[in-house]
Amino acid sequence: MTVICGLFLHEFTLETGKKQDRMAIKITDECINCGACEPECPNTAIYEGGREWNWAGGTTLTEVATEDGSKVDAKSAQQPVSDEFYFIVSGKCTECTGFHEEPQCAAVCPVDCCVPDPDHVETKEVLSAKKAWLHNEELQA
Ligand code: SF4
Ligand code: SF4
Repeated sequence: MTVICGLFLHEFTLETGKKQDRMAIKITDECINCGACEPECPNTAIYEGGREWNWAGGTTLTEVATEDGSKVDAKSAQQPVSDEFYFIVSGKCTECTGFHEEPQCAAVCPVDCCVPDPDHVETKEVLSAKKAWLHNEELQA
């Protein structure tokens, strides 16, 4: 069973101490709800507006420990981030690190509304660690 600590990525950030110049991606309110981005995400981080999401979809996670110490079943339903537009769960977005050279949602979006999220700035190393975390893989050097 994969037991995940939500603090891991935060601790990893502190350990690297390197310049943070990358970000998770977010969807703006310019979204036209075309749905083109959703199937392109390698982490199943994109959901239709109003839909519940979970950690387990598209990942190997079985349990997630939150910062307050409680544990969440990865299959448990989480509240939508947006009721109006497609949304990205930042905790599952790796900027497609380890899968593609560029964010696939941004590549297919017809209105260019998949943009870097300044509220979730992460180094390339953290994004790589997140990818390994989501898919229960050895962290690549
Ligand atoms: S950048 Fe990649 S991982 Fe992040 S939401 Fe878009 S498709 Fe998914
Ligand atoms: S591809 Fe762009 S416009 Fe279409 S649902 Fe995704 S974010 Fe919205």
